[in-house]
Amino acid sequence: MSDMNLGITEKLAPLLDAVRTMVRDDILPVEEEYLAEVDKGDRWEYTPRQVEIREGLKAKARENGLWNFWLTGSDKGYGLSTVEYAYLAEEMGKAHLGPEIFNCSAPDTGNMEVFERYCSEEQKDRWLTPLLNGEIRSAYLMTEPDVASSDATNISMSCKREGDEYVLNGEKWWSSGAGDPRCKIYIVMVKTGDENTPKHQRHSMVLVPADTPGVEKLRAMQVYGHDDAPHGHFHIRFKDVRVPSENLILGEGRGFEVSQGRLGPGRIHHCMRAIGQAEHALELMCQRSLRREAFGKPLAQLGANYDIIAQCRMDIEMARLLCLKAAWMMDQGDAKAAAPWISQIKVVAPLVALKVTDEAVQMFGAQGISQDTPLARAWTSLRTLRLADGPDAVHRRQVARNELRKYTQERV
Ligand SMILES: Cc1cc2nc3c(=O)[nH]c(=O)nc-3n(C[C@H](O)[C@H](O)[C@H](O)COP(=O)(O)OP(=O)(O)OC[C@H]3O[C@@H](n4cnc5c(N)ncnc54)[C@H](O)[C@@H]3O)c2cc1C
Repeated sequence: MSDMNLGITEKLAPLLDAVRTMVRDDILPVEEEYLAEVDKGDRWEYTPRQVEIREGLKAKARENGLWNFWLTGSDKGYGLSTVEYAYLAEEMGKAHLGPEIFNCSAPDTGNMEVFERYCSEEQKDRWLTPLLNGEIRSAYLMTEPDVASSDATNISMSCKREGDEYVLNGEKWWSSGAGDPRCKIYIVMVKTGDENTPKHQRHSMVLVPADTPGVEKLRAMQVYGHDDAPHGHFHIRFKDVRVPSENLILGEGRGFEVSQGRLGPGRIHHCMRAIGQAEHALELMCQRSLRREAFGKPLAQLGANYDIIAQCRMDIEMARLLCLKAAWMMDQGDAKAAAPWISQIKVVAPLVALKVTDEAVQMFGAQGISQDTPLARAWTSLRTLRLADGPDAVHRRQVARNELRKYTQERV
């Protein structure tokens, strides 16, 4: 293994500075206006003003070379390491719109990674090129309503070969981004094997264009009462959905291979964005606690507020270091060795960010839970991160099994 360098490299420093500046000066100031537009007109379409704001910011980012940082460990794009990218993800995560402006948002980055690594040149031309250009969006459909999807071996969507086609039947839900009118392609996890096939070779990944006949968007799932329009998390039915056999990615039975390649880096990106959200919440909390007075003193000086602020700072620092270590493990090229580290941070980062955001909400009083600060929205999205990409318990299980394996040769 190489020396563990978790610092900001010479290559990263100017990029980080440019992203930080753009998030602070260009994105955060227009974010509330952008989000408020959702309530004007059709919730599942973007208003002209939203398009103007978003596309204007994207064009600026691209002109300044701040685009598609996510393709780590590759000679294409920036060739950043996961550690370097993690710092950028933290900065982008400080704004709700941040990741999309730099074409680094979920679920597209993970999906683009699948196209880049596993798909044919023709599929890349058709889907990856417009994704890299920020012209279309995509969704990743694994979770199903009828099975415990934290154990992906349960995934049951049927996929049968008929001549030169595959025919899909079943339901998916929590398909993030499927509401976006720009979302044109789904990567769908399906069951192609049967009980006689080894458990981890029963599943496959298939490309399904969103407008394929038989795909029916049933409803938008709500997150604590919000539909997250126009992005949305959809419940989708597939009824006799036919796609050409070339749409199968890698081959039958290789679904787990594809999902592992997709989820590892994606989880680190989520975690670093969560740390960015925590930093932003702490900044807002400190400013508020100095500005507002009660009982003759700034809030910061009342009760246990010094301790709360100190604890938030310490928790963020610990989480960031753990995240960078997980990123560094990824950079060593052994995904299996990195997995328990990714699991550790996937538990820690959302918990820390959620706690810090909750303390910030408290310091703001009633305004903290309202639409007047970004805190309530951030809290909700961080809470979902304890479920999305694997619930806490599943990752704790992975960490514990890895730990116990040190003392026994047997699988536990
Ligand atoms: C906002 C949001 C966006 C999402 N986006 C997507 C998406 O784009 N694509 C997609 O495919 N999915 C998405 N998901 C779904 C998410 O990945 C699943 O909800 C998650 O994998 C858990 O699956 P499940 O809901 O079926 O829970 P279940 O598998 O039913 O698990 C429920 C609970 O059981 C317990 N449990 C499970 N395993 C263990 C264990 N080993 N030890 C102890 N307890 C355990 C845990 O408490 C767990 O939370 C999203 C979810 C949310 C909330």
